[in-house]
Amino acid sequence: MSASALSPPEPATKGSTIREFLLWYDRRYGHAETARLADRLSPEAAVLVDPKQPALGILGASWYPTSVTHPMLTRVAERIGNEGRNFAIESCREVVPRMIGGVYRALFRSVTSPELYARHIGRLWRRLHTTGDRAMVIRAPGEALSVVESWPAHHPLSCWLAIYTMTNVFEAMGYQRWSVERLTCIGHGAARCETLLRYGT
Ligand SMILES: [Zn+2]
Repeated sequence: MSASALSPPEPATKGSTIREFLLWYDRRYGHAETARLADRLSPEAAVLVDPKQPALGILGASWYPTSVTHPMLTRVAERIGNEGRNFAIESCREVVPRMIGGVYRALFRSVTSPELYARHIGRLWRRLHTTGDRAMVIRAPGEALSVVESWPAHHPLSCWLAIYTMTNVFEAMGYQRWSVERLTCIGHGAARCETLLRYGT
């Protein structure tokens, strides 16, 4: 039996979650800077991208392992600082409404209220990520606890991107006022990432 048959597959993320963010990065910082995101990839990971192409040639329908995504996320986080949180805030504000009206329209058609989001988010998450158990509990009117655990593909910046994707989905549902408080994070030694979302119209 080969070594690859013995080891579990590397966690992966659907290209559709990556592509629009890279196009946004391109518009914001220029293509040379986007191309630099591929600089630190291992030779095995580098064959999966093409720095000359828009969005590094990432295809929406393909899956990309953490050996591709993590070095890129780390580079963005180092460049922006603060785990890349401001990148997550700014990019999600523009990218998420476009995705839920476009490439994810079918996926999010059933998510029209916080209760339906809480019911479906675990299933939707697994359409886009091979690892991570995502759940939401509505604790009180206007207050939801979002949890991700069993997430070996966790990266501090992907954590913030998941959080601000969620807030923008809530905004699209009509909750223009929201705030988030990340209570715990795998990146800071916790067993799971917990975020408190408060929302109102
Ligand atoms: Zn986290």
